[in-house]
Amino acid sequence: MEWLLAVLVLLGLGVFVLPRARLRYVLSQAFPLNYSKILRKNLPGYSRMPTDLQMQLKRRIRQFLYQKTFVGCGGLTITDEIRVTIAGKACLLLLNRESDVYPQLTHVLVYPSAFVAPRTQMNTGGVVTHTNQGLSGESWSDGRVILAWDQAAHNPENEARGQDVVLHEFAHQLDSETGSTNGAPDLKTAAAYKAWSQVMEREFSQLLHAIENDMPTIIDPYGATNPAEFFAVVTEAFFKKSQDLAHYHPALYTQLRNYYQVDPCDWI
Ligand SMILES: [Zn+2]
Repeated sequence: MEWLLAVLVLLGLGVFVLPRARLRYVLSQAFPLNYSKILRKNLPGYSRMPTDLQMQLKRRIRQFLYQKTFVGCGGLTITDEIRVTIAGKACLLLLNRESDVYPQLTHVLVYPSAFVAPRTQMNTGGVVTHTNQGLSGESWSDGRVILAWDQAAHNPENEARGQDVVLHEFAHQLDSETGSTNGAPDLKTAAAYKAWSQVMEREFSQLLHAIENDMPTIIDPYGATNPAEFFAVVTEAFFKKSQDLAHYHPALYTQLRNYYQVDPCDWI
């Protein structure tokens, strides 16, 4: 029996200790020069970020690339540029925070361009409708994010609109870590949830009002779909239209700054 116990202990060590030792080894390696080049090319603002945030970002990217599997779909071959760009944008949302690197996420599926997702909806009369939607991104709570590379790459049109599908889908991932994707990520304290819900509800209503009255808004109208989409689009605005969001929606900006623990106005 003793030998059996010894085998079990060794197996336990293998399961729990080796992956952590391997991760420590991976994180201790130098960040490849071509990865830095990709970040400078595809992450606007990266070059202006404070050095400590750049260092944190590189460490998170290494962990992301070590732990997540990228799958090329629709004939796409996964390259370093695809992996590092997506990991870089995803890990922007983790800086300065006590958070693991998307613990529920296992796979990132990447299509060359908009992909078709079959949808089945049942109305109250029991009629089932099948639709085919062209999508640029999807986040699933079962451990998958799906992205269209032509939208996830550095895209001048999306840049001009302050939109970023990678930030959007990974905000959904953070939202779903609480067990329900409802627009409120893990905020740690009851006081933080209270302040968050007061500001988000008010801002959500203001967005609905602006849309109904054809008023201009810097927040993507898609955010009015529901609170989860609102959190995803204001996350995009926080990182891509920081100055405007801070100016026109200071209370919302403050909530996002408290949660994300960074102030992108410092480098955008
Ligand atoms: Zn969404």
